[in-house]
Amino acid sequence: MQALTEQDFKALVDNHPRAIMLSTPDAVITYVNRMFQAVTGYRPEEVLGRAPSVLSSGLHSPEFYQAMWESLNESGRWEGLIWNRRKSGENYPQWLTIYPVDYQGKRLYAGVFMDVGELAASDERLATLAYYDPLTELPNRSLFQEFLKARVNQRKDTADLFAVLYIDLDFFKSVNDLHGHDCGDRVLQQAAACIQAVVRNGDVIARLSGDEFAAIIELDTEDQLNAVCERMTHVFRAPVMVEHREYFLSASVGAAIYPNHGETAGELLQNADRAMYTAKLAGRACYRIYSASEIQHGQQQQRLSEALVASLKVAPEEFSVVYQPQYDLATGAMAGMEALLRWQHPELGAVSPGDFVPVAEQRGHIHELTEQLIRCIRRDLEACAVDHGRGRRLAINISARQIADGRLDGLLEPFFERVRQVGWQPEIEITETHLMNLSRRCLDKLREFGDKGVVVAIDDFGTGYSSLAYLHALPVNVLKIDQQFVQRLGQDGRDSRIVSAILAIAEALSLEVVAEGIETEIQKRKLQELNCHRGQGYLMARPSPLSELPLD
Ligand code: C2E
Ligand code: CA
Ligand code: CA
Repeated sequence: MQALTEQDFKALVDNHPRAIMLSTPDAVITYVNRMFQAVTGYRPEEVLGRAPSVLSSGLHSPEFYQAMWESLNESGRWEGLIWNRRKSGENYPQWLTIYPVDYQGKRLYAGVFMDVGELAASDERLATLAYYDPLTELPNRSLFQEFLKARVNQRKDTADLFAVLYIDLDFFKSVNDLHGHDCGDRVLQQAAACIQAVVRNGDVIARLSGDEFAAIIELDTEDQLNAVCERMTHVFRAPVMVEHREYFLSASVGAAIYPNHGETAGELLQNADRAMYTAKLAGRACYRIYSASEIQHGQQQQRLSEALVASLKVAPEEFSVVYQPQYDLATGAMAGMEALLRWQHPELGAVSPGDFVPVAEQRGHIHELTEQLIRCIRRDLEACAVDHGRGRRLAINISARQIADGRLDGLLEPFFERVRQVGWQPEIEITETHLMNLSRRCLDKLREFGDKGVVVAIDDFGTGYSSLAYLHALPVNVLKIDQQFVQRLGQDGRDSRIVSAILAIAEALSLEVVAEGIETEIQKRKLQELNCHRGQGYLMARPSPLSELPLD
């Protein structure tokens, strides 16, 4: 066979299936092949004579390039994943090999590359896994961190604003559990496409892990961030389609702006993550922009929750119950009492149930808390003579979130039995705001309680949105007028009208009314004039230990 000519070699390189570029040591491009144009979008005349940095995405840090040149000088070769920018402005990952070539006594550098997406199963493809998520074709966490570092570095020279978004899908786990991992994978790809649709060319998005994504968003003004976050949560409102099936996703988004919310890449990502967590706590499917005070509040809640769990487990003696009497407003006789939980922590001091009950509800410890309440009351009842104040009611507060909990019956049934033994009638109070969200099952449960002779009261009535029609359908016996209406009684006419309206509703529906938070004689007198049945408040009695109650 004939020896190959220089011409033949040129044809070989021109038509090579990988993009090839030659440049001089002082950074001038001297040759590109056909594939180069296919990958980068640049025609040869647009890049010849220019610096290879025309291809640069600006995403990598100076240290990255420095390490590249060091490796090239030491081992005569560099190979790795690099993100470059196409002529269209799109950033893309490419697998690049650089090595020196001596040609006619001159040193040149050859760069051989192709899109990562085009790589066949090979060692190269495996090597990209260190930086690249093949499922969504996005940078992974470590590459994202590298990009973010570079962006922070760059920001020191320019004044351009940017933000980091942390995007976490809500309830994605259930897609995996219900429909399998293949389906989960496809849904993740769709989710990545949703996110991609929101950001602009040149913004970076990455998959950090499982169902967590992040983005670096370029901003013209700080105000723009709200709109971007809004779009980011909105884009998930439409269902994603996978194999003709609709999946309803939602995402919680947290955002942090450089430099106000963090001066290093690590801080920015962490604070965007924390902001995302507050979005989750706020009910998911929404966004939160980092706010130090909100995060602090969240951290306090976390500490409170941890302390509560620990105390419930190992220090039950920190809990006790106080009882606040309720009086018949017409006769002045004591008609019943409400049990209120108290928690005395060695370091935190006396923690208000107004603080720890919501934390227990949100973090899933409310059942344990009610168990503790019942234990405390049972202990108090041991010391209580049978037939002490027969016929009175003993009310406990039950979180609406607990009603459908299967464990509640087992806890309450024997307790109510014990209350009846003493001669009292059990009552449960449920806050109105939560009542509106009760499912049919919960309402059935309440009805069951009623059928078994338990009095059901709506607490804080007037603060929620109970419609009359709905109220009629609810299995309740008692309305407790919220303190805020009672306490404004006597100030002007409006609030007495609210109270009389509630009394009129109650009358029409044959419900009993208790006014709570009575602090003054004026309030009490007004309530008596309005024919309110019962009253509870500091004026008559503060909550106190059972042994100190005037039961007779
Ligand atoms: P709530 O059920 O509306 O209880 C009434 C609250 O008002 C009690 O506060 C009581 O001490 C207070 N109060 C009574 N009379 C007056 C008054 O004249 N003036 C004023 N300003 N306040 C008065 P507490 O004990 O701090 O309880 C706060 C909330 O915590 C309760 O509101 C209830 O929602 C919840 N809670 C308390 N104990 C328990 C419990 O054992 N389980 C559950 N799930 N929640 C509880
Ligand atoms: Ca109550
Ligand atoms: Ca109340």
